[in-house]
Amino acid sequence: MARSLSAMASPHLQTLLPYSPGKPIEEVEREFGVAGAAKLASNENPFGPSPLALKATQEAAATVHRYPDGAGTALKACLAERLGVEPAQIALGNGSNELLELAARIFLQPGDEAVMARPAFIIYRMACQALGAVAVEVPCRDFVHDLAGMAAAVSSRTKLLFVGNPNNPTGTAVPPATLEAFVRRLPPEPLLILDEAYWEFLPEGERPRSLDWVREGRRCFVLRTFSKVYGLAGLRVGYGVGPPELIGLLDRLRAPFNVNALAQVAAAAALEDRAHVTRTIAGTAEGRAALAAGLTALGFRPVPSVTNFLLVDVRRDGAAVAEALLRRGVIVRPMGAYGLPTHLRITVGTAAENARALEALRAVLAA
Ligand SMILES: *Cc1c(COP(=O)(O)O)cnc(C)c1O
Repeated sequence: MARSLSAMASPHLQTLLPYSPGKPIEEVEREFGVAGAAKLASNENPFGPSPLALKATQEAAATVHRYPDGAGTALKACLAERLGVEPAQIALGNGSNELLELAARIFLQPGDEAVMARPAFIIYRMACQALGAVAVEVPCRDFVHDLAGMAAAVSSRTKLLFVGNPNNPTGTAVPPATLEAFVRRLPPEPLLILDEAYWEFLPEGERPRSLDWVREGRRCFVLRTFSKVYGLAGLRVGYGVGPPELIGLLDRLRAPFNVNALAQVAAAAALEDRAHVTRTIAGTAEGRAALAAGLTALGFRPVPSVTNFLLVDVRRDGAAVAEALLRRGVIVRPMGAYGLPTHLRITVGTAAENARALEALRAVLAA
């Protein structure tokens, strides 16, 4: 008798659960009969995409019968100039998520180890698990990466280290000098994957010199994305900056047209739209302060965040609270999958969305 497809699948997939994203707005509106749901579950930009990026996609839409530039030449040239690196040091991805997974597939074989924080972006662990590699998780201290603990966890089997800075879901960053000391003390072999999805939200004085480490030839792969501050999550485009040898390996494994044509032109335009970025950062800082103040007034203590989201312990079943919020048209992320069953992660929305979220939470707690 034929085995089931599941039995035929890679044994490493047997224990893997699907990633659970924030519920789509339309689904919540339909399911719970609410109008204008507020999606504060995926750390998207609530202010919308850059108008320049929108215009670029509209113009490029007429030529979508052609394949995109598989090498992403124009976008890489823009990024190289902006970042002060060579195009040969840049990889483009279908979101930086794709680059995380490709890096894992390049390096990890069954039994290899990857060091990461707990809690950290769950994709790091899932990418390892899917390959039969061991995710060595080092608990955060007060929701901040324990870099000394992570350095101590590196063994001869460690191929990758994942550091999200700022970290998701905690919203915290390590001081630049601490990260720099960690990077300089790492053993020569493992590759550091420095996930900077929220880098743009860091105040200028608090940004680590991560690209310098790549320029110096260190084994460091710096990942950034157009999904967060640039507001292009739906187009799926991110990039990584690392050693040309690594970029070459990624080119072997990636799909030939992994970043679509609209995403490429939108990203290049968004990069030039400094006004949109400035507005987003200012609006986020304002909204984050309002949301934090509201949560504090409700008796909670959100983890101090440098990002566009807040992690908060609501001291009761987070999944139940999130479900009750859904009924009121507010979509947040319960943190059970991250080992934090009483926490919620709430994305900073527009002023109206933040007020609505706080009002809904107040009502849910009173019920
Ligand atoms: C959002 C996010 C990403 C990647 O997003 P993409 O949309 O795939 O570019 C990567 N890392 C972290 C920590 C994130 O929060």
